[in-house]
Amino acid sequence: MHIKTDDTVQVIAGNDRGKQGRVLSIDRSAGKLVVEGCNRVYKHVRRSQKNPQGGRLSKEMPLQISNVLLVCGRCGVGVRTGARLTSDGIKERFCRKCSSGLGQIAPAKEKQAAK
Ligand SMILES: [Zn+2]
Repeated sequence: MHIKTDDTVQVIAGNDRGKQGRVLSIDRSAGKLVVEGCNRVYKHVRRSQKNPQGGRLSKEMPLQISNVLLVCGRCGVGVRTGARLTSDGIKERFCRKCSSGLGQIAPAKEKQAAK
């Protein structure tokens, strides 16, 4: 799954199913990512010097990467993506629904261009 920080994704499972949000961070080793406004939980905070009031803190929790889909700008919904090479040798993601490009994954390989 090629998802990067700042991508817009749609959640496809759990309480926030159908919601779209921006990717705030990704933990590739754990296969999880944090999506803005999704999977919010209230963390109860004890009174402390830093937080004299205590109370509840709203916080986004990480979601499984497999539970989100990249949103295609043209389709406006979460779509399955593929990877392909453009004519310039650039690897890019594309929407499997409308086949429009969804941004570059890797720059053109110099070696291939030279051959
Ligand atoms: Zn599309």
